[in-house]
Amino acid sequence: MTSTRWVYGFGGGGADGDASMKNLLGGKGANLAEMSSLGLPVPPGFTITTEACNRYYADGRQYPADLAEQVRAAMAEVEKVTDKRFGDPANPLLVSVRSGARASMPGMMDTVLNLGLNDQTVEGLASLSGDRRFAFDSYRRFIQMYSNVVLGLSHDLFEEILDDHKERLGVELDTELEAGDWERVVAAFKQAVEQAQGEPFPQEAEAQLWGAIGAVFASWMNERAKFYRRMHDIPESWGTAVNVQSMVFGNMGETSATGVAFTRNPSTGEARLYGEFLINAQGEDVVAGIRTPQALTRAGREEMGDSEPSMEEALPKVFGQFVETVETLERHYRDMQDVEFTVERGRLWMLQTRNGKRTAKAALKIAVDMAREGLISEDEAVMRVEPQALDQLLHPMLDPTAPRDVIAKGLPASPGAATGQVVFDSDEAERLGKLGTPVILVREETSPEDIHGMHAARGIVTARGGMTSHAAVVARGMGRPCVSGAGGVHIDLATGLFKAGGREVKAGETITIDGSSGEVMAGAVPTIEPEMSGDFATLMGWADRARRLRVRANAETPLDARTARGFGAEGIGLCRTEHMFFEDSRIAAVREMILADDEAGRRAALAKIEPFQKGDFTELFEIMAGLPVTIRLLDPPLHEFLPHGDAEIEALARASGLDAAKLKRRARDLAESNPMLGHRGCRLGVAYPEIYEMQVRAILEAAIEVKGRTGDAPLVEIMHPLVGAGREMKFLRELTDRTAEDVFAQAGDRVDYLVGAMIELPRAAIRAGDLAEAGAEFFSFGTNDLTQTTFGISRDDAGRFLGAYLDAGVYENDPFVRLDQEGVGELVRMGVERARATKPGIKMGICGEHGGDPSSIGFCEIVGLDYVSCSPYRTPIARLAAAQAALGGAEKDR
Ligand code: PEP
Ligand code: MG
Repeated sequence: MTSTRWVYGFGGGGADGDASMKNLLGGKGANLAEMSSLGLPVPPGFTITTEACNRYYADGRQYPADLAEQVRAAMAEVEKVTDKRFGDPANPLLVSVRSGARASMPGMMDTVLNLGLNDQTVEGLASLSGDRRFAFDSYRRFIQMYSNVVLGLSHDLFEEILDDHKERLGVELDTELEAGDWERVVAAFKQAVEQAQGEPFPQEAEAQLWGAIGAVFASWMNERAKFYRRMHDIPESWGTAVNVQSMVFGNMGETSATGVAFTRNPSTGEARLYGEFLINAQGEDVVAGIRTPQALTRAGREEMGDSEPSMEEALPKVFGQFVETVETLERHYRDMQDVEFTVERGRLWMLQTRNGKRTAKAALKIAVDMAREGLISEDEAVMRVEPQALDQLLHPMLDPTAPRDVIAKGLPASPGAATGQVVFDSDEAERLGKLGTPVILVREETSPEDIHGMHAARGIVTARGGMTSHAAVVARGMGRPCVSGAGGVHIDLATGLFKAGGREVKAGETITIDGSSGEVMAGAVPTIEPEMSGDFATLMGWADRARRLRVRANAETPLDARTARGFGAEGIGLCRTEHMFFEDSRIAAVREMILADDEAGRRAALAKIEPFQKGDFTELFEIMAGLPVTIRLLDPPLHEFLPHGDAEIEALARASGLDAAKLKRRARDLAESNPMLGHRGCRLGVAYPEIYEMQVRAILEAAIEVKGRTGDAPLVEIMHPLVGAGREMKFLRELTDRTAEDVFAQAGDRVDYLVGAMIELPRAAIRAGDLAEAGAEFFSFGTNDLTQTTFGISRDDAGRFLGAYLDAGVYENDPFVRLDQEGVGELVRMGVERARATKPGIKMGICGEHGGDPSSIGFCEIVGLDYVSCSPYRTPIARLAAAQAALGGAEKDR
């Protein structure tokens, strides 16, 4: 039987592993091996594999039988290279022990330094280094760290003892303590440990080592690590590796130092070494914040206005070597590196390297710069930027350094940050908005009558509603930051205030919202404006070249359409015509139409609507010249349009000249128990064909007019919503063609147009072949409704319980945000296959909110849709996500 290899050595100019072995050696271990093979100065050591950790747990917390032997052999190798011996009183080898999972994981055991020190070896270290003070300072650090991390004793225990000593000596800084002082501190520390745990501090180096290895393995299953894994989808089966590495000392006097660095600025992306270091210090001093670190480079120091010398100035020779080393690393890994290093008496040692975390802005700049430097290809640059992160670049965001007073939290419905006065009423929002006052509209929920208020507001908060609620969809479309479903916000209109987080906020008081995090904050929090640099356009150009999927926008107003074009949309994939009626002057006519009790009444109302419909379409066609425009016929969930309350009915009666009592009766008759499943979509067109006829007429007359004026006919696509059956489609197709022929006859001119259907019902997906057969020339998957109808969850009410599902882990994601590939996605796949089986080459896209979600876009690529359509502000995100999907990143998120 061949035995398993549990231990991989590195250092001394070679290594058993390499960077490709992250799964087995963890990120840190794999990179230490790689650096060592590159010939970079890495203190020798070894890595115990993640497999050993898994075996340890599989066997009921027992180490594999031959692990001890392999560790001993690896240690012997380290002893050979360093010419020191582990536990040798005269010439002691000291090591650090660190955890190292595949992904860096806060919450895991971090580090024990100086392991191997005891009452004898500390003397050996003292004479080897010729520095007794240093030896005892190292020993006390070790006792402190080991006791905390391995024995579970509190740091405070040791801090108190140290403070006592300093107070007695009348000194403030650790650096003022002498060797003898540290000796006494060590004695006190050991006594405290013995008292706390009932046995002495372990003196045997071997026992210390196994204590630390056990602590690393145990930390894989501590509550913090488990929580972090759940949050970040990290499987328990990955396990952690353990890195044991010979110590090098940054605290051996003025020619020693320790520091951290990024090869480029992680916040701006600027291609300049960026980092901090401390002279005469050990690693944890830099992070602990006890001393203020100094800048690495002279330029960095000058920028910060620091007087302490930079590493470039204080240790110029070793700095030069360091710069060369990190340049090698960046070229080798072809990415920005985040490194840790130590200088021991003028000699450089590399302790860690990894790809550095960065802001969206830095990610963009670094990707574009590296492609220009020839370090990576343009396709690789496209893969390097998280599409979702572009959101940060497209909207104002909160200054990350500013304090926040969060009073409520809701859903991050529409990204960006906004500050303004609280307003509860849309008319008031509009009035103040016109005066230039920034306002935040705070509503229980929004409805079509709030559109003008939402437009005037800088941001929107609703107490109810999910990610596809009216407020969320409309706000995203407008690019207004929005927090929806903030359950902790209790509005009291009577007194003109809302309560949240135990506070009262009155109308007129200032709040700030962050639509990217869902936070609602009291007072003003400064924001940073987006900056669309040349790099942004460059990367987008590379993305456009790489992608197959076309990207269109969901837009209905001229403003939205222009914004969408500006962001690179290649047409309109969904123009929701009911959204074109939201303005005050129009909504009355629509209500009149809905409430009319006979065809004549409806036609009278339609006659009022038709001219502005036609005008709107004309404008859209002109803005989108040369690009397809999909216009969806009316799909008003009735409850969004019916007048609410007596006042609105009276107003409608006055505007229309109809009898208020009659209107009221009619509104009552029309009220539905389940409006989302009610008389909406094409059901309206089937029951009242004159409504859809009017719309088809308006669309085609507008098209002919634009053709006449510009010489180019617009690319018109007429789309029927909520279709579920072949016969329905046939009825709608005939209605459309009949009306078109009338228009063409009257105009004495023709334009081409396509007729299609939205697939928003499971039945439509299952019978997509029928719909194609019955005359549909394109399909657009309306995955908002398809999710609603597949799950049987109302879009309007999901907000009330989805949170509980997500908290309990019953759903991994909100299915209205990320397409449920297994269920809803299966219907999409089926629809695509069946439609193509009947009509090869039929054009298909998606226009639900998922059309702007990167992982859902990955799925659209896989099932072979032709385009995605999303809100204007998400267009760049979709372009990048589509490129990554085409380049093979589609699997990445799954
Ligand atoms: C959909 O259902 O996915 C869709 C785009 O239509 P709406 O959101 O307008 O219902
Ligand atoms: Mg729909």
